[in-house]
Amino acid sequence: AADREKVNSVAKIKVVVRKRPLNKKELAKNEEDIIETLSNSLVVHETKLKVDLTEYVEKHEFVFDAVLNEEVSNDEVYRETVEPIVPIIFQRTKATCFAYGQTGSGKTFTMKPLPLKASRDILRLMHHTYRNQGFQLFVSFFEIYGGKLFDLLSDRKKLFMREDGKQQVCIVGLQEYRASDVETIKDLIEKGNATRSTGTTGANEESSRSHAILQLAIKRSVDGNESKPPRVVGKLSFIDLAGSERGADTTDNDKQTRMEGAEINKSLLALKECIRALDNDQGHIPFRGSKLTEVLRDSFMGNSRTVMISCISPSSGSCEHTLNTLRYADRVK
Ligand code: ADP
Ligand code: MG
Repeated sequence: AADREKVNSVAKIKVVVRKRPLNKKELAKNEEDIIETLSNSLVVHETKLKVDLTEYVEKHEFVFDAVLNEEVSNDEVYRETVEPIVPIIFQRTKATCFAYGQTGSGKTFTMKPLPLKASRDILRLMHHTYRNQGFQLFVSFFEIYGGKLFDLLSDRKKLFMREDGKQQVCIVGLQEYRASDVETIKDLIEKGNATRSTGTTGANEESSRSHAILQLAIKRSVDGNESKPPRVVGKLSFIDLAGSERGADTTDNDKQTRMEGAEINKSLLALKECIRALDNDQGHIPFRGSKLTEVLRDSFMGNSRTVMISCISPSSGSCEHTLNTLRYADRVK
């Protein structure tokens, strides 16, 4: 019962906004910081033109569970977002942490350190609090590109998804590595990240069109019987989403880009609907809307937790994208 309480004390959905500092390029263009932050709210100062072409400022205020400004470190981001959900994945809970935002807003910068920090805490719990209780940690890392799945720990091997009839999602051929120390995890994460960014047209260009999914699964042998395959107890997924502006690439001249844009648009819309359904305790969760939500199906079922980190640029030049990101986050909340 104490364990149930521990699970129930963690919010089902948490929406956090992270604002990055102005970068060199933005400073060189004399772009201004238009985001004013408070601990859990922010104001966007949008400069608009009247019909007579004089400027005026329109203010847009948003309230979230937390707003992390440009001075907040990755350690603090971890403490605010993932740290509270680590203990409950030992209690039959699945949790997902998303990074959402336009390309260049800081999604990868924010997401990259989180799985390693979480693994450290998971291993600490496994080796101390839950010592000798048969828990094991597994790592997998794959991406969804143009609606197709590729294994990032196995040279981008193409993967297929299957449902097992018990509402469990199975990704056929996905490599899962057992890890009992931080070094092993670190190597796996680095390998996956390297595979992710070795596309043809440069890191951000490629990764902006794919969703990267890193999963940490806690498993346990049934009745302590080591000869049987261990069963999943809980799962923690980290998802570095495709650039949100890519969903608008649906009128591009290039057919490939257009198709990818349509797929990204579909998946981000489906994701929003699924998270909203979770929050309303709706029985029906519309995960069939896209490959992304289908793959995450078991993480949306039953007792689950979701953390959305919305990344934004502070610059005046990104105002429109920033407002789109904040409106998306606002609807998820
Ligand atoms: P995205 O993954 O959303 O396209 P990135 O994470 O690659 O964006 O960030 C774009 C650039 O901004 C990178 O050079 C990154 O190091 C830098 N950056 C992002 N967020 C921060 C931050 N909070 N503090 C300092 N630099 C940041
Ligand atoms: Mg990125």
